[in-house]
Amino acid sequence: MTTKTYWLEHAWLDTHVEPGVALDTNDGRIAAVRTAVPTPPPGAEILRGLTLPGLANAHSHAFHRALRGTVQVGSGTFWTWREVMYSVADRLTPETYHTLARAVYAEMALAGVTSVGEFHYVHHGPGGIPYADPNAMGEALIAAAAEAGIRITLLDTAYLSSGFGQPPTTHQLRFSDGDAEAWAERSSVLKERDHARIGAAIHSVRAVPADQLETVARWAEERRAPLHVHLSEQTAENEACLEAHGCTPTQLLALHGVLGPRTTGVHNTHLTAEDISLIGGSGTGTCMCPTTERDLADGIGPAAALQNEGSPLSLGSDSHAVIDLLEEARAMELNERLRTRTRGHWTAAALLRAASADGHAALGWDEAGTLEPGALADFTTIALDSVRTAGPLPRLGAETAVFAASAADVSHTVVAGRHVVRDGAHTLVPDVPKALADAVEALRA
Ligand SMILES: [Zn+2]
Repeated sequence: MTTKTYWLEHAWLDTHVEPGVALDTNDGRIAAVRTAVPTPPPGAEILRGLTLPGLANAHSHAFHRALRGTVQVGSGTFWTWREVMYSVADRLTPETYHTLARAVYAEMALAGVTSVGEFHYVHHGPGGIPYADPNAMGEALIAAAAEAGIRITLLDTAYLSSGFGQPPTTHQLRFSDGDAEAWAERSSVLKERDHARIGAAIHSVRAVPADQLETVARWAEERRAPLHVHLSEQTAENEACLEAHGCTPTQLLALHGVLGPRTTGVHNTHLTAEDISLIGGSGTGTCMCPTTERDLADGIGPAAALQNEGSPLSLGSDSHAVIDLLEEARAMELNERLRTRTRGHWTAAALLRAASADGHAALGWDEAGTLEPGALADFTTIALDSVRTAGPLPRLGAETAVFAASAADVSHTVVAGRHVVRDGAHTLVPDVPKALADAVEALRA
């Protein structure tokens, strides 16, 4: 039995900042939360600043990290960006992907992320030829998360077509299992571990033929596993769906049993009022990725309306233009302010819930995302004495963290009671910037 006590100078207890909290952990879980502890108990690990529940990065494509900076030269659209992204996907091997993902997940730990949802679709070798282990790429990602000290939900993604009635392009052959039955057979072999859960994903209504959507939905249903789907990120997808099926992508998903409380639509950007009702009314979640959506000029999704209709919100760094869940949280609110020219759509508490508890629930880690007895001992500490965060009263720590802090203010990250980031340094990956630079260099054309 591994027991350890942390003393939190300030703790975020879902509704308020509590000063002086002792948090006892036992075998990776929180055993007790003791308040009114003004000084550190003997032997306790001291966490100065504001400790939050661990952050959940609910939507990631680890290899997109190799595009950072390079895709900012020139103009274009989502579709021209995608060509550059495919050129990196073409060069991945299980070895290079493992090395890159380990560094990217280490960057996430440094940003306070304790769980990642990896929307994984580069399954096979060049030309679509399976590796000796058909799950070599997925296993590389699961191993990378373990080595970086964070949890992963591998959202194994069905990607079968390039568009409605269109076979995969040359680039996309690596993504395709041929049909949904073959996808289900391969992904069924993946095993859960202490740090890893397995979920399903439908890349999009473009990439999975309508008559095969139910196969993926049933796979997730049988396992009570999370099911994610890119939904209406682009208006071109809506138009093509309307032409092929006479309905919106949301309507198509509803018709084929994809929507429901274990399902999360990613982006949910260009929706009709009926789409919003279908998503909210079914309890389907919404994962917003505001830094990517603005980077790719996607548009602003109706997050507030979706939540009002019953859709829980989560957040993801998606293309990793930046990896900063605090920035994702404030961007969702600030987008809504720009659109409506009014302030205060979400409180800091509500934004933190999207970044932690609701994000974890979207990834199938319902027992994470809160500092209470029985929860997983996953938490992260934000410095309140940096140039960005110094000044406000500690009781405004949540507002300061969400609206002023950045990933650079994360001083500690603890996952399953293990100190993965201490005083801003990763304890398992000694030089994360070098690990990132080397991994990206190996993939340069
Ligand atoms: Zn995505």
